[in-house]
Amino acid sequence: MYKGIALQNKRLTIAIKFAKVHPHIGQRKERKMSHRRATDVLAAFWDGRLPVDVVAIAQKMGAHVFSSPSLGPLSGKVELVDGLPHIYCNSAESTIRQRFTIAHEIGHLALGHVSPECAQRREDPASNLSGVVSPIEREANAFAAQLLMPENVLEYAGRSQV
Ligand SMILES: [Zn+2]
Repeated sequence: MYKGIALQNKRLTIAIKFAKVHPHIGQRKERKMSHRRATDVLAAFWDGRLPVDVVAIAQKMGAHVFSSPSLGPLSGKVELVDGLPHIYCNSAESTIRQRFTIAHEIGHLALGHVSPECAQRREDPASNLSGVVSPIEREANAFAAQLLMPENVLEYAGRSQV
């Protein structure tokens, strides 16, 4: 019994040490989940054209998308208004950045991060600069990356060049 606990603790200690040395390893599971969800969204709502039209995808998912000049320091936010998702991106930022923000907010919706209990998520660049990015934000980032650059398409493009 005691030996079992000691062994468990040893494994846990090793796992924690490993995670500290290889912080990206622990994020694999989140990334896999985000990729799967992004692939589902692409399969359901993407017209197959590149660059991926994230506004069209958001709209097909029932969201309203706004490019807003009044977000201040925020890159974007997503919130439920009378049960409907509203996605905002900061119109002062570059088009590429706005596309990423919209894809990221779609991620929050598709990954269930927005609910009646937690009806708003705000993208504050200051929290990213601190280097501490929450798992939820990492998931939404991984989702956005996959949504904007579908792996299958890139693989296909790579193969056709050979
Ligand atoms: Zn976010």
